[in-house]
Amino acid sequence: MERTLYTARLERKECISESAQCYHFEFAVSSDGNNVPDFPFTAGQFVSLVANDPSGKEQTRAYSIASANNSNRPSNIRSGNILDLCANRTGGGFFSNYLADLAPGSTVAMHGPYGYFVLKQPITDSILISTGTGIAPMRAFAQWLFPENGPNASLDRSEGKEIWCVYGTRHESELYYREEFEALAAKHPNFHYIPTLSRAGEEWTGLRGHVQEHVARIIEERAAKLGQTLPLAPVDPTIRPADLTFDINAYICGLSNMITSVREKLTSYGWHRKQIIAERYD
Ligand SMILES: Cc1cc2nc3c(=O)[nH]c(=O)nc-3n(C[C@H](O)[C@H](O)[C@H](O)COP(=O)(O)OP(=O)(O)OC[C@H]3O[C@@H](n4cnc5c(N)ncnc54)[C@H](O)[C@@H]3O)c2cc1C
Repeated sequence: MERTLYTARLERKECISESAQCYHFEFAVSSDGNNVPDFPFTAGQFVSLVANDPSGKEQTRAYSIASANNSNRPSNIRSGNILDLCANRTGGGFFSNYLADLAPGSTVAMHGPYGYFVLKQPITDSILISTGTGIAPMRAFAQWLFPENGPNASLDRSEGKEIWCVYGTRHESELYYREEFEALAAKHPNFHYIPTLSRAGEEWTGLRGHVQEHVARIIEERAAKLGQTLPLAPVDPTIRPADLTFDINAYICGLSNMITSVREKLTSYGWHRKQIIAERYD
């Protein structure tokens, strides 16, 4: 099938962590020289960016869309074709450095959206687990669940379900979008922002350690509250996969080591593989 090649024009770029060299990008999407009125995608999906490296070889890399489908943009700005990305420089890599050096007004080729890393419907209690730039699709989920601006501003798509956003990084200066998540948590009692640092300085009073430790605590406290025994009883193997439903799901995004550790932890509590939705960056 022929895929549409779009042009993404960098409208705004902001360094959101000097120490991690991480950038927030806002791109306007156009096709054949015209702004596309709307670029439809589902929160959690990614786009593929295409550019030639210094040797002239075409390179393609995936980047999660770090915004929901325009639901959070003030209605007075052009919005239908804008999407946010978030990327950090990786040592020796071409594309991440190409993006980090891109000047506002420049363009990059793009196709998509792609991917199945999306929230299951109906919304259940959910643990969003990420490290580093794996926060990008979590920001999109949060914006979709709790729209702040635009035509859907009065919606609360969480349906009162508990949403835990567990975010791991090394240092406090690498908590990307921290203010946004804190503001959301202050406004919505069922949204819990749980940052944890693996190399925190003495001044840090928040959580320490890796994400899987805090995910374990969430699951154990929830089970105690609901009177569940852990590990959970295995799911009846005669139930067709399409008919399986769960009262909680986990969404994990980041590098594969972290995803494997979290998956092992969840499996040890009796979680079914269908409850664990993951997006690997490497
Ligand atoms: C579905 C999907 C979505 C992605 N979304 C994002 C995103 O939103 N933001 C983002 O920054 N990257 C994202 N990535 C990773 C991205 O595609 C590139 O791999 C990354 O930017 C490095 O590209 P590069 O050309 O600079 O280096 P490469 O030569 O491709 O890779 C250099 C090394 O960096 C590792 N690496 C890849 N991604 C990261 C990362 N984010 N942090 C640290 N090390 C990394 C790779 O395993 C590799 O060992 C995503 C990858 C996938 C598959």
